[in-house]
Amino acid sequence: MEICELTAHELAGRLQAREVSAEEATQACLDRIAETDAELGAYLTVTADLALEQARAVDSRRRAGEALPAVAGVPVAIKDVLCTRGVRTTCASRILENFVPPYDAAAVERCNEAGLPMIGKTNMDEFAMGSSTENSAFKVTRNPRAIDRVPGGSSGGSAAAVAGNEAFWALGSDTGGSIRQPASLCGLVGIKPTYGRVSRYGLIAYASSLDQVGPLTKDVRDAALLLGVIAGHDGRDSTSADLPVPDYVAELEKGVQGLKAGVPAQLLGQGIDPAVRDCVLAAVDRLVALGLEVEETQMPHIDYSLPVYYILAPAEAASNLARYDGVRYGHRTAKPVSDIYDMFAKTRSEGFGPEVRLRIMLGTYALSAGYYDAYYLKALRVRTLIKRNFDEAWQKYDVLLSPTSPTVAFKVGEKADDPLQMKLADICTIPINLAGIPAASVPCGEVDGLPVGLQIMGRPFQEDVILRVAYACEQTMSG
Ligand code: GLN
Repeated sequence: MEICELTAHELAGRLQAREVSAEEATQACLDRIAETDAELGAYLTVTADLALEQARAVDSRRRAGEALPAVAGVPVAIKDVLCTRGVRTTCASRILENFVPPYDAAAVERCNEAGLPMIGKTNMDEFAMGSSTENSAFKVTRNPRAIDRVPGGSSGGSAAAVAGNEAFWALGSDTGGSIRQPASLCGLVGIKPTYGRVSRYGLIAYASSLDQVGPLTKDVRDAALLLGVIAGHDGRDSTSADLPVPDYVAELEKGVQGLKAGVPAQLLGQGIDPAVRDCVLAAVDRLVALGLEVEETQMPHIDYSLPVYYILAPAEAASNLARYDGVRYGHRTAKPVSDIYDMFAKTRSEGFGPEVRLRIMLGTYALSAGYYDAYYLKALRVRTLIKRNFDEAWQKYDVLLSPTSPTVAFKVGEKADDPLQMKLADICTIPINLAGIPAASVPCGEVDGLPVGLQIMGRPFQEDVILRVAYACEQTMSG
């Protein structure tokens, strides 16, 4: 097996045993990128020199006998939505094409502290708006499992990098499914942590009440490790939770015996490909055989998730994206302008792609006088009802199970001109962001040779329980 095909924890073991150096592992990733990324399109920026320098630093500390974090030396890819000091951070948008942040995002800082060399910045849908990575201003990313198909989105570059062995693991962000859906479509594990579990400091904002940073990995153990690296309190994010971070790896093998799961009927019905549903239900049966208690449950307000999300997320985006005005940083029009308003208008119409413009318009409309009560305020109220459905479910269940994505990976171009179909891709993942709870996607089978993901949702701050169930599911796959 080639080095770049190892999981992160396998590589960590070899690094600790000094069978491989961090520099060799980093070089192996860079070689793979040179071979395959012209076709895959996972990276927007490859930081080869920086990664090799970080790797050599880890190697020399290890040689000196320093006590290092267990994962030190395992290269990581970072979604281009996270600020990286001195390294171009574009959010896959023309408006930030030449933006070089003066600081690191908190999650990036934690990766640095853990000794993870940064391989590069990955492609995404512009400002994380999309489900296929086709909305990038720069390029389309392809699915390593089937090159004519999308990797999902918006963290499609991170997913493709890991699934294509161009990185050992990666960070993504998830506002409505952007970690879990690409994980599902590329056959990876992805976790959207509880809102507040991982600092959003330095995460370029899309919809601030929904955004979270999380890992995309080759297996569940890697997800537990990387979540452990990035989770924890940070005073620079006012919504960061000041709670202890458990040892996620230590919990993995506890099994599912004694746990109770609900399967919401609302996430198995209309719009879910019957073959995907059968594959997910077969995985649920395998978990039952391991001792998980399962029953179907009703969560009626979940049905309103998509319309609620597509009012709240654009409303927050319209407000967040107001800062891109060509004055302080980012693109400014080179065309002649008549006054400052003309400068704003030209800058923003040149800088933002069609999907971003659409969402700014939708959000501005939902927030405007006369419509605020009818749309924004009503959506907030229904969000509370959805959250209550989950609060009630936690009285009975430790986890909830569903498909992650209603379909397997679709073809590049297949849904690009059909905004409704594209938005339906998030039908199972969006309720989780609205409720602020954690959820993972774990590979649970295949349909037509393409990966299917099982979504495991859990109580706030119980990522450890989710990981336990995910680990059990993974065992049933390899066994
Ligand atoms: N696809 C959803 C959207 O376009 C979710 C994206 C995300 O989670 N960032 O808004």
